[in-house]
Amino acid sequence: MSLWCGREVRKRHSKVSAYARANRLHYHAEPLYHSIQVTVRSTADATAQTSSAPACSLDEVQLAVPISRNLALRLITCPDAVLPSLLAAARAAKERFKPGAITYSRKVFIPLTNLCRDYCGYCTFRRDPGNPGAHTMTPDEVLSVARAGEKLGCTEALFSLGDKPELLFPEMRATLRHLGYRSTLHYLEAMCELVLRDTNLLPHPNPGLLSPEWIARLAAVSPSMGLMLETTNVALLGPGRAHDNAPDKVPAKRLRTIEEAGKQGVPFTTGLLIGIGESPQDRVNTLLAIRDLHERYGHIQEVIVQNFRVKSTIPMGHWPEPSHGEMLRTVAVARLLLPKVNIQAPPNLSAPYYDDLMDAGISDWGGISPLTPDFINPERPWPHLEQLRLRTEAKGFQLQQRLPVYPEFIPALLSKPGLLAEKLRSCTAEDGLARRAA
Ligand code: SF4
Repeated sequence: MSLWCGREVRKRHSKVSAYARANRLHYHAEPLYHSIQVTVRSTADATAQTSSAPACSLDEVQLAVPISRNLALRLITCPDAVLPSLLAAARAAKERFKPGAITYSRKVFIPLTNLCRDYCGYCTFRRDPGNPGAHTMTPDEVLSVARAGEKLGCTEALFSLGDKPELLFPEMRATLRHLGYRSTLHYLEAMCELVLRDTNLLPHPNPGLLSPEWIARLAAVSPSMGLMLETTNVALLGPGRAHDNAPDKVPAKRLRTIEEAGKQGVPFTTGLLIGIGESPQDRVNTLLAIRDLHERYGHIQEVIVQNFRVKSTIPMGHWPEPSHGEMLRTVAVARLLLPKVNIQAPPNLSAPYYDDLMDAGISDWGGISPLTPDFINPERPWPHLEQLRLRTEAKGFQLQQRLPVYPEFIPALLSKPGLLAEKLRSCTAEDGLARRAA
């Protein structure tokens, strides 16, 4: 599809602008970066364009074909005048991929342990033993949350936990001994199996770095799993940076885990965290690293674009948040780099303007819980599901409840006999979404 070229530009751009106004786009914060200029002709910049300048960058966009690195680098810092055209292209690409609907997963959040051996500068979740709120859930607590979620129509048990706390804390080793497990991963595996066996929820673990052996073991008790790549910028491991003293955030190690999941054919959720000290170019590079793995293994079921939100209690308590405009540009570029992959952005982290994310090409809202808070961003409540439905419909989309694993990955899982396939079959509707209606 050719967009915004030649004489069509003025006419189409004015249509896009009217569309943007009608859909209440909120560009309330200036983008931070303007180092690379996009040369798309628009009402604003057509007159300024010289005959020697390259014509129509967005003209290169073909909705089903991933854009090039070069174009992504230009678009991710495009000026405000070009943003409506970028968003229109991203939304059109999303519609070509998954028309008419935005999905979400109704979940319970199970923070199995908030002890963690890493000290990421933006984290409010982690605790050291003895800190107020430090806690490792018992099996009874896990089951009780899962059962309460089941009653509210949840179909996902999202296990979030710190990375290998027993390597740093003798207290965690003692807790695990008391529970009867050799490591946090052994305990996680048992809790995934417990939830799978005793409830109708499907586990989706997010345990950090994993060896090939552990990917295989967890894949036997969960249809999908996740690890945020966050960024490929190794400079963030440096002193005083976001990943200083976070040994599990080495990008090469995270890429290895994601690649190994691909080799084993495990449906995988990953994504990037924006606004932690990386540049817009780093965001493109991170998306390209994910794209590269997906092209090789076809296992990336979803890419999350998560925006850093500041909290007073974190080491990065004075760090500036990325602007709404940066978020929209990153989501739109993610959509155009990965036109056939689900793109997710959490609505609670962009409230009150989260419906703009639908203009940038998301296909999914991620996990939303009617029961448990977002333990990673507890000050940012999820929208009420009815509110989310209304705002999704106001943008012209149907809100659909999916399972933690996306429909396109389910047939392969159902072909393997066992408890996982049995449970998955029982909660999957004919279209691959959740059997229970949204
Ligand atoms: S973000 Fe994850 S790995 Fe980093 S400190 Fe928090 S819990 Fe640990």
